[in-house]
Amino acid sequence: MSNSYEFITDELKKQIESHIHENPKTEAGRIIACGDGVITIDGLKNVRNGELLYITGGNYALAMNLEENYIGAILLTDMEELSEGMYVYCTGEIVSVPVGKELLGRVINPLGEVLDGGPSLRTKRHRNIEYPAPAILNRGRVNEPLYTGIRALDSMVPIGKGQRELIIGDRQTGKTAIAIDTIVNQKDKNVICVYVAIGQKASTVNSVIHSLKKHKALSYTVVVCSTASQTAPLQYIAPYTGTAIAEEFMYEGKDVLIVYDDLSKHAVAYRTISLLLQRPAGREAYPGDVFYIHSRLLERSAKLSESLGGGSITALPIIETLAGDISAYIPTNVISITDGQIYLETDLFNSGMRPAINVGLSVSRVGGSAQCKAMRRVSGAVRLELAHYREMAQFTQFGADLDEETKATLAKGARLTESLKQSQYSPVPMSEMVTELYIMTHDMITDIPVEEIRGFMTGFFEFLSVTDRSILQRIEKTKQFTEQDEKDINEILLAYRKLKHYE
Ligand code: ATP
Ligand code: MG
Repeated sequence: MSNSYEFITDELKKQIESHIHENPKTEAGRIIACGDGVITIDGLKNVRNGELLYITGGNYALAMNLEENYIGAILLTDMEELSEGMYVYCTGEIVSVPVGKELLGRVINPLGEVLDGGPSLRTKRHRNIEYPAPAILNRGRVNEPLYTGIRALDSMVPIGKGQRELIIGDRQTGKTAIAIDTIVNQKDKNVICVYVAIGQKASTVNSVIHSLKKHKALSYTVVVCSTASQTAPLQYIAPYTGTAIAEEFMYEGKDVLIVYDDLSKHAVAYRTISLLLQRPAGREAYPGDVFYIHSRLLERSAKLSESLGGGSITALPIIETLAGDISAYIPTNVISITDGQIYLETDLFNSGMRPAINVGLSVSRVGGSAQCKAMRRVSGAVRLELAHYREMAQFTQFGADLDEETKATLAKGARLTESLKQSQYSPVPMSEMVTELYIMTHDMITDIPVEEIRGFMTGFFEFLSVTDRSILQRIEKTKQFTEQDEKDINEILLAYRKLKHYE
């Protein structure tokens, strides 16, 4: 009798051991210290970096520091019920979130839990929030434009599908506004949008969601939200979650636009985590690998080659500067990772230039190859005229005696600058933009007072839509702006001027 009993216990022991060996979930450790969203764990010899850990009671943590005698991990869930001595288990997995078209129009937190009060997500697929960037040979060329609908950008700082374009500027200069306008402009353009809010005030995120809804842009947008009141680990993983959601669409062959608002706060969240984990601090107290967390993130935005479906992720990361200092640590890092930047200035904003884009300092390294023929035809002149105008304006601000040519340049430049002003949520279609910029860079409106330019152009497009709709439709369809179009526009403009008694 005792023999068979021993046999059974031996057999059970064997089974348990093999189970532990095969299933890493059963490896357990204990919390030896916890506080400020960081826990230290004893045990867990086989844990891997970035692995998801399960804590008894339903909490989760992320393994970050693998030391010889202990593990440092960051908490992903609330830490109220945590105490020393609690058991922690390896899961063998890394953090994953639900992905797929069910997410469109939804607001979720970085762990994939719904925040909008709607029904819970029933997606078929999950995706790891960390994923390798597409290899060089799997990438295609960035040569298809992604229109922002903002005149100053589409003409002079064109963005291509698969590009990473940084929006940089001081606080309250209209950074978020540019990103939201770009999302609003993707309506009916077959581009899926992801807006990732990192460490922002809940009220700000709420107003963003509200305006997306109001302009019917929420139906094709996913909002990933981590507010300032949430823990640093959640803010830290938010952009990776957003990218995982975007990647799923990209690998299905779709075009995606992702906005990270903003990466300065992301860097701060990572700094908090690193300092709590007692990692060595470097410049501005950021850890040494802060460059890597951003490059790892932004390299995942790409244009895939045709053989992989040709999908793309276009990224608009946002960086907030202090007193216009773009040479601080995080701004220089992100500038060097992205393919260009849109630079916003407080002075321009206050002087009434909105969007407050400094076109001299803004660049797109993809440039003309991400523009259609029609836009390319007019955009060169715009840049040149503006540069010329700025130079002259500086020269002549002390009231010198001006010759006719200089006067003409100044008049044209002032009107062109005025025409580049644009209010929020009013994206302009490409054909209208091309037509307007063509008119502005030719000597057809220099007699119209600067303050009347906007009203004049609005009236002109109304006039155009009742006289000859076909021109704009043709430009939109063929993406060309021909000499015949120029002639037609000249004629219609003349007729409109007569109507308004300018001739
Ligand atoms: P923060 O640093 O707080 O994130 P931000 O740089 O993202 O600010 P926004 O919130 O986008 O700036 O804009 C600041 C203010 O400027 C808002 O009240 C917004 O409505 C206004 N604004 C932005 N762009 C325009 C525009 N093109 N026309 C008129 N108002 C604008
Ligand atoms: Mg903002």
